[in-house]
Amino acid sequence: QPPLDVNRVRHDFPILQERVNGKPLVWFDNAATTHKPQAVIDRLAWFYAHENSNIHRAAHELAARATDAYEAARQKVARFLGAASPDEIVFVRGATEAINLVAKSWGAANIGAGDEIIVSHLEHHANIVPWQQLAAEKGAKIRVIPVDDSGQLLLDEYRKLLGPRTRLVAVTQVSNALGTVTPVHEVVALAHGVGATVLVDGAQAVSHLRVDVRALDADFYVFSGHKVFGPTGIGVVYGKKAILDGMPPWQGGGNMIADVTFERTLYHGAPARFEAGTGNIADAVGLGAAIDYVEQLGLDNIAAYEHALLEYATHGLRAIPGLRLIGTAQHKTSVASFVLQGYKPEEVGDALNREGIAVRSGHHCAQPILRRFGVEATVRPSLAFYNTCEEVDKLVAVVRGLARR
Ligand code: PMP
Repeated sequence: QPPLDVNRVRHDFPILQERVNGKPLVWFDNAATTHKPQAVIDRLAWFYAHENSNIHRAAHELAARATDAYEAARQKVARFLGAASPDEIVFVRGATEAINLVAKSWGAANIGAGDEIIVSHLEHHANIVPWQQLAAEKGAKIRVIPVDDSGQLLLDEYRKLLGPRTRLVAVTQVSNALGTVTPVHEVVALAHGVGATVLVDGAQAVSHLRVDVRALDADFYVFSGHKVFGPTGIGVVYGKKAILDGMPPWQGGGNMIADVTFERTLYHGAPARFEAGTGNIADAVGLGAAIDYVEQLGLDNIAAYEHALLEYATHGLRAIPGLRLIGTAQHKTSVASFVLQGYKPEEVGDALNREGIAVRSGHHCAQPILRRFGVEATVRPSLAFYNTCEEVDKLVAVVRGLARR
């Protein structure tokens, strides 16, 4: 694959031609959601124009086309993650629903009173709240892996938390608030050493680095389509087949049953068992197109380009007087969270928006980790492969202008 040509790539994303407040849009809110290449937009339109039908249950041509497209998307996701089989891929609405599915189904069957669930201090609320709810229901305990001052997990402290009561470890691969890339391989191996099951939150990882769930040996791996250049409303639970097949359904209805009488219901195996009702068929197909797109660019190309861009942004921001970067781990991707002395994060966000630059300022649904660093909110520029050094220069210039005042 040739290295990434950012000017060519930018033409694939029509929204990058938008103007905001009279200025060209600069999209640095990729950790919240990513933009869609024309290929994904076209695929959605093609589905509705030529294939639209409900899937699986009708024996007519369009049902066959829709079912083929949907199952082809499942195969693409399986290949993208390095899963052993498409049967290990369950379509859900997003990472949040994915984690809730595992908590409600696997958690209900496998967590009891006195059991322990380990999460990290870096987690998004989506990887905290469902476990808290489960723990409250079951009388289980939540333990938290602390981080060092750079925002990296403290593996020695993690080792001390692991024990015979550890049932589940739920850890993010990339922090949405700080950009830390965590040592998930070690996290998984250590958890398996005590017989615990592991869920890896890949919401911020899949768009930035190559993932191989089998090499990782994760039991569950989850992500959202909209953060990897696909549609909203579609996401994925990867689960090892043997684990998924042992899990009870979490929602009941059509599609997920083998046979229903008023006395009892027999369920399908995975993945159908976990896909009750009519899902986001078109959006799954759109996610398949997004995966084709990033694979054609190449995850290694994307990672190399973004690494250089993040270094460039970090270098530029770090030189601004009164600016404090939050999250300075050695191994980071795509996020440069900061606070600026004399300004609230939303004031910085407003000043950037006036120049057409979109960043998130707030708590990023990760309050515990921000409080670990003594702040309630940060300004969070987050990068993707379609961002450029010139865009970083614009960002740095606005923040530098504020710092001077
Ligand atoms: N985990 C992480 C690390 C995230 O960044 C996000 C989204 N910000 C989620 C989970 C939840 O994803 P979604 O809102 O798409 O369900």
